[in-house]
Amino acid sequence: MTQTIVIAEMNNNAVHPSTAELIAAAMTFGDAPTVIVPCTEAAAADGAANMGAGSIIAAKSAAFAHYDASGWASALDAVTPQGTLITGASSQSKDLAARIAARRGLAVIQDAVAIEGNNVTSPVYSGKAMQTVALAGPAVISVRSNVFPPASGGASEVNVLDTEGNVATSVTEFMARASERLDVGEANIVISGGRGMGSPDNFVHLEAIADTIGAAVGASRAAVDTWEAIPHAMQVGQTGKTVNPSLYIAVGISGAIQHLAGMRSSKYIVAINKDADAPIFQHADYGIVATWEEALPVLHTTLKSMMG
Ligand SMILES: Cc1cc2nc3c(=O)[nH]c(=O)nc-3n(C[C@H](O)[C@H](O)[C@H](O)COP(=O)(O)OP(=O)(O)OC[C@H]3O[C@@H](n4cnc5c(N)ncnc54)[C@H](O)[C@@H]3O)c2cc1C
Repeated sequence: MTQTIVIAEMNNNAVHPSTAELIAAAMTFGDAPTVIVPCTEAAAADGAANMGAGSIIAAKSAAFAHYDASGWASALDAVTPQGTLITGASSQSKDLAARIAARRGLAVIQDAVAIEGNNVTSPVYSGKAMQTVALAGPAVISVRSNVFPPASGGASEVNVLDTEGNVATSVTEFMARASERLDVGEANIVISGGRGMGSPDNFVHLEAIADTIGAAVGASRAAVDTWEAIPHAMQVGQTGKTVNPSLYIAVGISGAIQHLAGMRSSKYIVAINKDADAPIFQHADYGIVATWEEALPVLHTTLKSMMG
């Protein structure tokens, strides 16, 4: 197998902890990978220390101040060694993976959920089927979060390479996320509400449980479309975010195929719905046929006593 390189997952110019999972994914191909950290200040690359990397390169460029697809792809292409590239599977990183693959004439495999030998598995048709691709050479692979246990140890020293990108767009305003709550795409536990919650005000009951167990709060598209107070950033599904938590709790969500597309690979799915025939129950590991008004208070009390 050729050399494997990880493009660090970045969040607000800092290395995101999920980069350690990407390093673990890269290590299934052999040696500890080189990690490239796109940054404006080399100090940001210190965040990749002790994540299992073989070596760390700070790719320093003004182009990395804000995400611009062509600027990032060209700046990274200039300093990234040839080989198989591993990126995260956030919408930004999937975009970047495709751009770099196109520049290098490599195959791209998006949203990988397993790597065994040269075989890479990823969902297709909105998660209705899985495909396994046998790599015949270097490729670009975006890896879904919460699939590989994070790597640790490894390099902490950073080499700095200056690079330049052809920035095609400029950011005139950067709007920070309004909520400081955990993002659904990053959380290990997600509790989501659907139209069955009846009102956006009732999401406080989901938030209370989320605070107890350290979960993120998500929503169905019907909830997002119906209520202005529920932002698109919370939407899980085909046109929202793909999540892969250990535990996904769906409350008042029917289980439409487009919602399932974003959460069906969760390790455990719990559904609370008053309709015993709701499709979500066909995909749930545990189902509670009840209104949320009945079920959530009991669930919250039980979880609080379990959490001490
Ligand atoms: C192109 C396209 C893309 C889409 N992308 C997405 C997407 O990304 N994400 C997404 O979620 N959807 C998406 N959809 C929409 C999807 O088809 C469904 O319309 C949507 O998921 C339904 O949301 P829901 O389950 O919250 O609402 P509903 O289908 O209205 O279901 C509400 C559920 O709540 C239950 N309920 C009602 N009252 C209570 C109560 N008191 N207690 C407990 N249960 C109760 C009902 O029994 C019902 O099952 C997309 C659709 C299209 C066409």
